[in-house]
Amino acid sequence: MPLVTSTELLAAAEAGNYGVGAFNAINMESSQAIFEAAEKERAPFILQVTQTTLGYTEPEELVACIKALAAKSTVPMALHLDHGRSFQRVMQFLAMGFTSVMIDGSLQEDGKAPRSWDENVEITKKVVEAAHAIGVPVEGEFGMLGQIGGDLKGGESALTDPDMAAKFVETTGVDILAVGVGTTHGLFKGKPYIDHERLKEIDAKVNVPLVMHGGTGVPDEDVQKGITEGIRKINFDTGIRIGFLEAVAKEIHSIEAEWAEADATGGIRKYDIRRVLKPARASMVEAIRDRMRVFMSNGKADSFIGASCKEDPAKAAERAREAEIAKVLE
Ligand SMILES: [Zn+2]
Repeated sequence: MPLVTSTELLAAAEAGNYGVGAFNAINMESSQAIFEAAEKERAPFILQVTQTTLGYTEPEELVACIKALAAKSTVPMALHLDHGRSFQRVMQFLAMGFTSVMIDGSLQEDGKAPRSWDENVEITKKVVEAAHAIGVPVEGEFGMLGQIGGDLKGGESALTDPDMAAKFVETTGVDILAVGVGTTHGLFKGKPYIDHERLKEIDAKVNVPLVMHGGTGVPDEDVQKGITEGIRKINFDTGIRIGFLEAVAKEIHSIEAEWAEADATGGIRKYDIRRVLKPARASMVEAIRDRMRVFMSNGKADSFIGASCKEDPAKAAERAREAEIAKVLE
């Protein structure tokens, strides 16, 4: 299955009234987990990479791994840059073949200090122009979403204003909009609070698909209600990290116990990294599958018809050749 753009996935989700999960990959195991979950659930998905991943691995290495997995996949997916913070960074990811990008113009490149409305509009417009020139859609954001550990209950000013949202989309030309309706990046400190009235109002005024960032910890019924109110892309990252790390911690504990036993009895310690990574990856798969079912995207892969969902010409030629050979051999 070739990569498709996020707008194609989200348009199909709009037509079918479901949400598309956007899951973050940082290494081979998390990439494999996302693909495996999607394959098992037959769920279209967005695999996203943040630019901060670059501090951990060379982007080309990770992207090569993702593309190898995509080549084998039979489920439609988009490769998305999550929270691009500068024009240069976004261009770097476009050059690597990403089929969707986010420019988060709400914050400066350091990801901390806020950008003004004018600065945000300026950088977002510039990215939209460049990305659209090669047919790649852009997700934009204005106003700050919750930060890790933040409790937004009552923090009205942090939420997206419907009229400003409409103005932002119109001025910048973004294809997808991240909205602040109460979710926060990372885990909720207090009780999650989703402003459904606001979301409905934004959806009525904005004619592009909406994104819920910080999907972890939001009750299932709030997520599903949000989907009926216009949320089409749901970012889910912390939840899969929890699954992974809890499995790692559990396995490390039992390994330590075995080492202690070996030391006490004069036995030999065993060192197998896969013993930790395998259950961690498996638990990530389950966490992602669970979300795909909640987002109601499970089983939707086969009904997906994307405009650019054509087979790669080289692959199509190869398949035709194989068919010819098969005919001769018959
Ligand atoms: Zn985010």
